[in-house]
Amino acid sequence: MKKVAILGVTGSIGTQSVDVCLQHPDEFEVVAVSCGHRINILMDLLKVIHPEIVCVSEGVDAYHLSQNYNDIKFVFGEEGLLQVAAYENADVIVNALVGFVGMKPTFEAIRAKKEICLANKETLVVAGDLIREECKKYGVSIVPIDSEHSAILQCLRGNKPAQVKRLLITASGGSFRDKTREELKNVTKEEALNHPNWSMGAKITIDSATMMNKGFEVIEAHHLFNMDYDDIDVVMHRESVIHSMVEYNDGAIIAQLGSPDMRLPIQYALMYPRREVLNEKPFDITEIGTLHFEKPNFGRYPLLELAYNMGRMGGNMPCIMNAANEEAVRLFLNDKISFLEIETLIKDACMSFEYKEKVTLEDLINYDRKAREYVLGRRG
Ligand code: MG
Repeated sequence: MKKVAILGVTGSIGTQSVDVCLQHPDEFEVVAVSCGHRINILMDLLKVIHPEIVCVSEGVDAYHLSQNYNDIKFVFGEEGLLQVAAYENADVIVNALVGFVGMKPTFEAIRAKKEICLANKETLVVAGDLIREECKKYGVSIVPIDSEHSAILQCLRGNKPAQVKRLLITASGGSFRDKTREELKNVTKEEALNHPNWSMGAKITIDSATMMNKGFEVIEAHHLFNMDYDDIDVVMHRESVIHSMVEYNDGAIIAQLGSPDMRLPIQYALMYPRREVLNEKPFDITEIGTLHFEKPNFGRYPLLELAYNMGRMGGNMPCIMNAANEEAVRLFLNDKISFLEIETLIKDACMSFEYKEKVTLEDLINYDRKAREYVLGRRG
């Protein structure tokens, strides 16, 4: 029996992780979870899972919940979150938090020598080098849940890393893929949140529309698979049927295909490298008919190019880019800025900080705060 901790249990990846665990009750038991403010969803989940420890954002919520559930320990805030990440009875953690807030718990889980199934891409974007050092030091490996990286992991099986020529990360292009930059001037939040293929949380859906998300995934792939940025390409693929590909030295390209259902990569990470039956929508490849592939246009998606550049620089730059993105997306979702202003704010933030190559965890926490202040100072 594997004992599982799920960080961000009420989100899209969190609830699907619970579903995967419930599909294999002889194999998985959810013993620890964290959630933010969606207490109603948490209470629904507590009808089907019976964790020993639960972290919520606010102390007042922890207090009220503890009155109703005698056999669960409730903790709260960042300290509580780190407690769940390193919870002694858990063997594996699923980090499904969104944003920079997911970084510290990943460090905590590595130091506690947990198996790590990582959906929080910001951990590797912001602190990839430090995370890799820490994993080496504690003998911990990270299995990705992000569908593209799960696909790459599956395509790498059975071959030697030295034989890999390049990684091909597929991109749907997001909600506005058929719009010109001129047409992007007046798009609304509601249109942005309507992703053509995937049903995901609000932040990542906006990140898909700007393709900041794909840029993050390039950086994530660099760290997970130890690949040069020159050997990681993005391929526009509007059907989202091929989740990503690996090209080998002999010219063979191996792809992983499937329906856009995150439960497959979640289960693959939890059971890696085994495969078991998963109840999901049947996927009939003959119904797809045609698949399309195109080179991405950096002029159309400047944040993808920015991510390559900031990733290559490394140091404090990916952290600044990520923090500026989180705040800019928040402002857009709160109707404070237009869609195209997201790009401007992120580019300006990256330009306005001095480059620092060697950074510590404390440095990153400071840069994260300063970059957020910069964006809010401009448009808050
Ligand atoms: Mg992805």
